[in-house]
Amino acid sequence: MLCENLQRVEQKIRAACVRTGRSQEEVTLIAVSKTKPVEMLQEVYDAGAREFGENKPQELKEKYSQLPSDIKWHMIGHLQTNKIKYIIERACMIHSIDSFHLAEAVSKEAIKRNLVMPVLIEVNIAKEDTKFGIIPEEAEKLIQQISKLPGIQVRGLMTVAPYTDCPEENRHYFADLRKLFVDIKAKNIDNVDMRDLSMGMTGDYEIAIEEGATMVRVGTGIFGTRIYGETQL
Ligand SMILES: *Cc1c(COP(=O)(O)O)cnc(C)c1O
Repeated sequence: MLCENLQRVEQKIRAACVRTGRSQEEVTLIAVSKTKPVEMLQEVYDAGAREFGENKPQELKEKYSQLPSDIKWHMIGHLQTNKIKYIIERACMIHSIDSFHLAEAVSKEAIKRNLVMPVLIEVNIAKEDTKFGIIPEEAEKLIQQISKLPGIQVRGLMTVAPYTDCPEENRHYFADLRKLFVDIKAKNIDNVDMRDLSMGMTGDYEIAIEEGATMVRVGTGIFGTRIYGETQL
């Protein structure tokens, strides 16, 4: 069943790429496995998935130790500075940098281990009170500041669009984020490599791809509905 879910999502990604004349290689599918047991992740891995997304540092750490080492783990959730240690050597990217303070803490942990952590800046594109992320107007300034830190490299932007039953309603938010991305990229900031736009979830990933997403984060569409508290590590 999970295999079929994965194939269906991959098929829809392909179709969205074809519709907009994009190459399928431009879009990375991140299977969002939060709250799901490792057996299910293994099943999706066996069906071909290699990029997984988690939103809790300890959960990422636990799953990392139990699953194949060629998986790329994406930290997609809100991150507290005291938890960076759990993911700094395990995550291939942090999608949720939304303050200089957090970037500085990532930088410090990365330097200790002699690595450079690729990160995305989380933008609250719809300016919802309930969402993490910085407002669009502050993104460039934050990126300028982070660009001067060692051990961390900004690779693009991420957003969690509003929850909606009508994904078309999010199209303009995705277009706005892409415009912000293009504007910042054009500044050619030293030590910044604007290449990724992480946007689109189960309800709206096809539209996000039509608007330029290079990474889509799909949980429910692959693993089914999440029941909080079900995590069996
Ligand atoms: C849970 C989560 C997703 C996946 O959401 P679905 O609607 O289940 O696809 C994507 N991005 C982030 C940041 C998440 O926390």
